[in-house]
Amino acid sequence: MGRTPWSAADALVGLRPKAGRGAARAPGGPPHWRHASMVFPTTLIKAVKGTRDLLPPSTEVWNRVETAARAVFRAYNYREIRTPILEETQLFARGVGAETDIVTKEMYTFEDRDGSSLTLRPENTASVIRAYIEHRLDQRPGVRKLYYMGPMFRRERPQKGRFRQFYQIGAEAIGSESPLADAEVIEMVVELLGRAGLTGFKLLINSVGDRHCRPQYVELLRKELEGVAARMCGDCRRRADANPLRVLDCKVEADQPIIDKLPHIVDCLCEECRAHFEAVKRYLDDRGIAYEVRPRLVRGLDYYMRTTFEVVHGALGSQNSVLGGGRYDGLAESLGSKTPAPGIGFSIGEDRLVMSVESETDGAALDLLIAPLGEPAVRQCALMARDYRRAGLSVELAEGRLKRVMELANKLGARYALIVGEDEMAAGRYALKNMSTGEQESLTREEIAARLGASLN
Ligand SMILES: [Zn+2]
Ligand SMILES: [Zn+2]
Repeated sequence: MGRTPWSAADALVGLRPKAGRGAARAPGGPPHWRHASMVFPTTLIKAVKGTRDLLPPSTEVWNRVETAARAVFRAYNYREIRTPILEETQLFARGVGAETDIVTKEMYTFEDRDGSSLTLRPENTASVIRAYIEHRLDQRPGVRKLYYMGPMFRRERPQKGRFRQFYQIGAEAIGSESPLADAEVIEMVVELLGRAGLTGFKLLINSVGDRHCRPQYVELLRKELEGVAARMCGDCRRRADANPLRVLDCKVEADQPIIDKLPHIVDCLCEECRAHFEAVKRYLDDRGIAYEVRPRLVRGLDYYMRTTFEVVHGALGSQNSVLGGGRYDGLAESLGSKTPAPGIGFSIGEDRLVMSVESETDGAALDLLIAPLGEPAVRQCALMARDYRRAGLSVELAEGRLKRVMELANKLGARYALIVGEDEMAAGRYALKNMSTGEQESLTREEIAARLGASLN
């Protein structure tokens, strides 16, 4: 045909609607579709690298985690915010920090048709603060408490538990500098993880100072690194001068003894930051929340100030962080807000949280499988299925030979199976089989609902 068989441009042309109404309805489809189907490569289309389909029964665990999170958020008076997935690129350049790995290497950034630069959100705090400023939420009384859940995008190297489209559950409390806000957010995190089913996790906290004391610490770190950087890994050598705080994140084994000897930021805090950190710890002690002060916990984002925290869980190996958060008192100003909006928040890596709790899930999701024997029974069973579903039960209606249907009940993990034939219909009593014990009872419609823990209206 004298041209390349298929290109992205062809696909875009195909997706663009034609001007004339009749054009797209020509017999056999419009010419560009026919062209595409003739030469379209026949390789199987798979999910994009680093993305994945979430399938049942795993989606049930996702839903359970999200339901638990919503209940905890409600108890702490947080309300949901849903921000767009697309934002202007400069929001993250300014909000996350132009020198961070996220902004320099990992963002999905593209030029829109009008030439503006857009980015798929790599995290959500900057978006929430943007919305907070844009909608003047600071004008309302009290602390604004907002939570979100949804997909984020970072072009990281795919590895176990890391995805390029990943999900976060997070919250922000904006409008208070008080250490009480920090303690309450951390308490909520602990409640949330417990209610989602995570056990055996560890809470790490630190203070990274503020604009008064952190620059001095960074200077001190830079001086200390001058003497030792030559013995460290390539990343550390590069960061020793440009971004010394990042050296503390290094995971290279040989560098650890050197890093352990570097000065700790908690020893360099100014009076205000020290008092703030002491108060946060005191409030956590009051609540009986166990924590460990981890002086190296500086986190990857530029906007953190004072309190930072992280939750780690052993089941996740080296990628063991389930959640990270901290205070970001200067973020709103860096995004152009005239009024300060001190805040603290966190985000949970939902993919990793689900992975950690997934093993403890039982698969039973179906309450009842109904097996009608014959056409009149099919019609009556359809109505029974509807009524039990209205009562809140999960119900499957399966036609076919009884033996096959009972096999299906086993495969679906149904708690009960209900057999309905002519005799049962005449008597108004039906055979309910408990699938785990094999016991069978003859019960009325109402008794069946009660046995399954529901009631018919
Ligand atoms: Zn290193
Ligand atoms: Zn300070």
